[in-house]
Amino acid sequence: MKNILFVISGPSGVGKGTMVARLASKGELIFSVSCTTRKPREGETDGVHYFFLTEEEFLRRAENGEFLEYDNHFGSYYGTLRSFIEEKLKEGSVILDLDVVGALNLKKAYPEAVLVMLLPPDKEALKQRLIHRHSETPHQIEDRLARVDYELSLQDKFDYTVLNDEVEKAEEKLREIYQQEKNRA
Ligand code: 5GP
Repeated sequence: MKNILFVISGPSGVGKGTMVARLASKGELIFSVSCTTRKPREGETDGVHYFFLTEEEFLRRAENGEFLEYDNHFGSYYGTLRSFIEEKLKEGSVILDLDVVGALNLKKAYPEAVLVMLLPPDKEALKQRLIHRHSETPHQIEDRLARVDYELSLQDKFDYTVLNDEVEKAEEKLREIYQQEKNRA
């Protein structure tokens, strides 16, 4: 059995972060720590949640081909480090929290990656989650919501879609998918 790349994606506010943290908490899946140029939020630690880089450093690494995929969304860069993934895959399967376009780009670089899109029960639920996590300004929330229809329109390109209406049920479904894919690899 090979170790796999298990990508959790979906629109902003759908609950990717929570889900990935739950799936990585038992040590079976290793969380892929991405690089970003956005500022750390309260409670976020460099090297644990992200590697926080300056834009200059990020672009230098991008130029060097150090990212499997990278993108700029909402004014900040985000990227998956090739070296991090290669290293961690030797130890176990890796779980990634990527936006929808990043997930599809990763699949181009690494076709065996398994892509899952988490779906919101409805758009209002997404809006409420974004408002209640207090990490975006009203303007940023509008930007994120404006992308949702486009992101959902790409769901056919994903290997699986999972409705995130109840966290426990969605987590169980994701664990089933992971096991199935891991057994097949
Ligand atoms: P946040 O700023 O809320 O942590 O993340 C914003 C978005 O960036 C989320 O949709 C998250 O999935 C995505 N993201 C996190 N890391 C990466 C990455 O390495 N590459 C890409 N393309 N998106 C990422």
